[in-house]
Amino acid sequence: MVQFIRLFVFQWVFVTAFLFSASAVDYPEYKNIYVNDFADILDAESEAILTRKLEHFRKNKDTEFTVVTVQKMSNYGYEGEIEEFATNLFNEWGVGHIDRDDGIMMLVAIKDRQMRIEVGSGYGSNLNNEMQNIINNDILPYFKKDQFDAGISVGARSVISFMNSYKEPIGNRMAKHFPEWVPEFVVILILIVIFFAGFILAGFIAIATPIYLITILFRMGSSAKKAYRNRAIECKSCNKTTKKASKFQRENILSKGQLLEHMLGSVIFKTWHCQPCNKTYVRRYDKNWSQMKYRECPVCEFCTLKTDEIVLESATKFRSGLAKRVSQCMHCDYDFSEEYSIGIQRETSRGSRSSKSSPSSFGGGSSSGGGASGRW
Ligand SMILES: [Zn+2]
Ligand SMILES: [Zn+2]
Repeated sequence: MVQFIRLFVFQWVFVTAFLFSASAVDYPEYKNIYVNDFADILDAESEAILTRKLEHFRKNKDTEFTVVTVQKMSNYGYEGEIEEFATNLFNEWGVGHIDRDDGIMMLVAIKDRQMRIEVGSGYGSNLNNEMQNIINNDILPYFKKDQFDAGISVGARSVISFMNSYKEPIGNRMAKHFPEWVPEFVVILILIVIFFAGFILAGFIAIATPIYLITILFRMGSSAKKAYRNRAIECKSCNKTTKKASKFQRENILSKGQLLEHMLGSVIFKTWHCQPCNKTYVRRYDKNWSQMKYRECPVCEFCTLKTDEIVLESATKFRSGLAKRVSQCMHCDYDFSEEYSIGIQRETSRGSRSSKSSPSSFGGGSSSGGGASGRW
């Protein structure tokens, strides 16, 4: 009987709480699908960049990631912890693809000093640890200093870069840890031999001039550099020498952005493939500063940003001129242009940013409470 009463009371409390929360909480409507800064803590510049980043991420990865800030959850009639609020808001909005349930929501309740990264049920608990790490290491240190703008930007960036490498071949992440010193020694030895061989050759061919020699050495140097970059990679699993990946394989190993970087020559990628283990390895070589035609794009972070300077009115002795700096990313659709005066140091810049149309609703995904939370 006691048990029955306990059960009855429990059920009554549960049902009332459920009804109460269901009727009283009035979740906010979204204004767009990328950033909803209801708490108004992001400045215009970082909100614009963040929106572009999320837009690009959605296009590139076909994944919906949305950032929401609120002042207090109680402003919406909710009393309690952030977990339930986040799950309900996520499901109310339907973040993510309806079948894949792959959405991500970063929710910050400023005055409640709570935040959460809620992920769609399609991930199960796969992302929970990583999201917790991002919250603890990348976001909370800023939040503790009341730097919400920075915390959100850095956190979103970490989530995006983690998600970009999620389910990708391990090779990409292993490339950095390759030992560099053994082949370097061999290359130096070869260079010395080439150097002396060059002299013997010069003695033999009397017509060789010093300029000719220098050209040869330079060429040999650059081909030695090429050979060094092309040196084979040993497979980490079977310790056998891997084969250079074919053009077709390379297209599968590198991301779209990396392929474009490679094509534009801003970054050189060397890709290897071990057929028996089906593992891929990537070496990345950045161009020298002086050879950089393309800079890193602030939105997609690939070295695909091209900047042109156009003189609109040239400066004279008596008045300053006007020039325009146009930066355009060849990978994503980021572009930025500003006018500035030339001749006289006083710089007046008029920024303008193009805005392109973007999808205006979420895909209908749902969450079953996966993700991670933080309090500060
Ligand atoms: Zn192997
Ligand atoms: Zn870009």
